[in-house]
Amino acid sequence: MVKKFKKIILDNNGHDPNSVLIICAHSDDQTFGPGGTVAKYAKEGKKVHTIIFSYGEMSLPLQQKEYTIKARVKESLDVDKYLGGDGVVFLGLEETKFTDQFKNKKMYPKLKRLILQYNPSIIFTHSNDDPMPDHRALNKVLLETLDRMRYNCDVYMFDVWNVFNFKKRNYIKILVDISDTFEFKVKALKMFKSQKMSLFSLMWSVYTKAWINGKNIKVKYAEAFYKIR
Ligand SMILES: [Zn+2]
Repeated sequence: MVKKFKKIILDNNGHDPNSVLIICAHSDDQTFGPGGTVAKYAKEGKKVHTIIFSYGEMSLPLQQKEYTIKARVKESLDVDKYLGGDGVVFLGLEETKFTDQFKNKKMYPKLKRLILQYNPSIIFTHSNDDPMPDHRALNKVLLETLDRMRYNCDVYMFDVWNVFNFKKRNYIKILVDISDTFEFKVKALKMFKSQKMSLFSLMWSVYTKAWINGKNIKVKYAEAFYKIR
């Protein structure tokens, strides 16, 4: 995918309208959630950066930690390249300990620096009612970081595990047509080979969600996001 960089005209908040940032807990969330949208934006020439809080070292309990980390980092970088992204940064926090470690490992300046460097006009992240505690913890820490930085941009939430949403009636729902990139999303998900046990059991939900969301706007496949700010 060839990218054309034009002269940057900043938006009303002073951010780059062609810069999109994905912030998620585990490597593969970025593809499970907004993978089709990532590929679509990349195709349109936008810059898409990804920040992942953990290495997902707990995902393969039978494997050695280092092996798991290596495998998951490589898969994320390969997938990012495949979808046309602009790089992945890992914060290296331990799963289940995001809130404490974000504070104790002095992650605020690091995350702040990355956000200022990318200067995104849109951030995609986990939703605040996700059943997975790491995902909810990340949502909270991120919003607190943006507040502390006084960084105003659109923040869209995605679901990884929820198939149906009943709690989000108060948010504006945004549906992105991913008919042209859905097959890239599916292929990208299959590239996370270390996760194939859990991933393949969830593949039906990837199709179902994209299909139901697509029906809402009369396209083949779509991804849904909820605007929290
Ligand atoms: Zn996750």
